[in-house]
Formats: sequence, structure tokens, C-alpha cells
Amino acid sequence: MPAQYPGIGPVGAVTARLADKREMRVPIQTVTGAIEPEELGRTLMHEHLFVAFHGAEFDPAAQTDKAWVAAQAVRSLNALKAHGVRSFVDPCPIELGRDVRLMAEIAERAEMQIVCTTGFYHEAAGLPGHWRRMEVERIVEHYVREIETGIDGTGIRAGAIKCATSAANISPVEAKFLAAACRAHRLTGVPIITHTENGIGALEQQAFLLAEGVAPHRCLIGHCCGCADPALHRTVAERGSYVGFDRIGYAQFQPDAVRADSVVALTRGGFADRVILSQDRVCHLAGRTTPPPGRDGEIYSHLFTDFLPMLRDRGLTDADIAVFLDANPRRFFAG
Ligand SMILES: [Zn+2]
Repeated sequence: MPAQYPGIGPVGAVTARLADKREMRVPIQTVTGAIEPEELGRTLMHEHLFVAFHGAEFDPAAQTDKAWVAAQAVRSLNALKAHGVRSFVDPCPIELGRDVRLMAEIAERAEMQIVCTTGFYHEAAGLPGHWRRMEVERIVEHYVREIETGIDGTGIRAGAIKCATSAANISPVEAKFLAAACRAHRLTGVPIITHTENGIGALEQQAFLLAEGVAPHRCLIGHCCGCADPALHRTVAERGSYVGFDRIGYAQFQPDAVRADSVVALTRGGFADRVILSQDRVCHLAGRTTPPPGRDGEIYSHLFTDFLPMLRDRGLTDADIAVFLDANPRRFFAG
């Protein structure tokens, strides 16, 4: 454990009892069953179907008609299939309204392979009090159960682990949840998808995960595209992790032109095999106005209608794009 986080707590009964599966090749659990990495196909690694910030359940104005959400999502996923997408990872944190039954219904109706995650969000906008005070080994136990047995009494299993930080300095509470994510990874072999605040703290987060025994290529460091500094992207890639260009279309964080320049720079620098493209779009955010759809009227299509042409204009090829959208997700899950 990183020495500057003495409060995490020792490796205990849960972590000691189970086998280390870091080197094992495990099937990918989707919400509708297990698949092999070769079946993944073109994949968006960070999108959402439904998100409700903690507390929305108490707000009459934020009540959601899930049947309506399902219908919207099925239509938008069908549009994504027309762009060749076969798989969709929804790393919704546990406490942000994650609804795996809804995900499974949408996956079946849209015939899309959807992967959900276990893991809590960051301290600024998540981490319910009940869990904040929990000892780390009980959090590990919960994550492992969601990965190996199922979620909320269903047999639906998490296919990856989500973890998050809210600032450059990882807080002691966040450190506990990061440590739990790392231990659950070691015990199950499923990879880790992170949230950073627009790349802030990405290197600290990556260093933490590596110090906790996670191989760099089993981590996707999220939202790095919120930072324009090519040195940040390059360092995350050089140290061996996947770099999340996973908020494409969010102009308030970064113009897409800057993102496209950054993807080209990484590719020319020899790091195409570390680039992940996605959009962090939400089909429905409880109590909030859903952001406007893309140019073809669909929620998740902007990457294909607007961003990929920007990459091609800058000289990248369909072969490069296939590395980002097909090969990299497959290798991330396959280990
Ligand atoms: Zn997200």
C-alpha cells in the first residue's frame, strides 16, 4: 500500500482467503451473460444509460419513468449498432442510481452487449455514509460478490470495477475505496475503470493503483481528455495504462479539436494502443435536462458523426480507429 495512506487498513480475511486471479484470463461478464474478449467487437468504454445522483430518489421532480428510459435507450443503441458498435460499457457507480435490471432489459431489447461495473464514486459527489465508515475488507467483499455472484439479488455480474477521485490529492476516504478496488481486482481479474476530474490527479491515481499491485494495462484512467497537456497523456501511456478520451463532445471541458490533436499526438508518438475513445453521455440523468442529441438526433452517435471525421482530417486511418475502438477494449478486458 502507498505509504502516504496509512489509514486504509491491512489486507485481511477476504483478500487473504481468495486466490490471486490477476494472471487469469476471465470471461467478460455482460448484463446478459458471459462472453469471450473476441466477441466484444467495436466497444464504447464509458457511456451511461441512466444516472441519478444520490438523493434524487427523495425529489418528486426527479422521479423517472424507467419504461421511457428503456425505450429511448433502445432506440439510441440501435443507432449505435448502425455505426458498428457491439458492446457498451456503463461504469455507473453503485450509488448513482445503477439499475442492472434496467440495463439487462435494454441490452436484450437492443441486442447490445452491455457491461456494468461494481464500485463507488468519489467523495465530492458520492460515497454514502454507511459505506464511508466500512472497513476496507468489507468493501472488498461486496465488490467481489458483485463480480462473482451477482448484484442486488440478481445473477447479473459486474464486468469491471469503477473507482473515482475528486481532486489531485486522493483523500483518505477515497484511498480506502481505491484500495478496495485494487484488492477486488486482484481477487477476480476484472479490470479497473477510473474517474478523474478532467485528468486532474490522473498520475497520482495511476501511481496508487500500481502501488496496490494492479498491472498498468488493467487500468483505464478516465477523463484524461479534460486536460490538454500532452505530457499527461503521454506519461499515463508510457507507464502502461489506457488513456481515456472518454468525454468526447463535452465542449465545456475541452474543445473536440484539442482532443483530436491529442489523440493524433499520442498515435504519432507510438501510443495508439493506449487510446480509448468514448463520450460519457447519459441517456437520462434523473431530474436534469437531458443534453441535446447529436446531429443525427441520437444520444451516442457524436463520436461517429463528428469526432472520427476530425481524426481522419488529421491523417489518421480507419486502421488507427479500429485500434482505438476494437483492439484496445478487447486487450483491456483480456489482460
Ligand atoms: Zn461517467
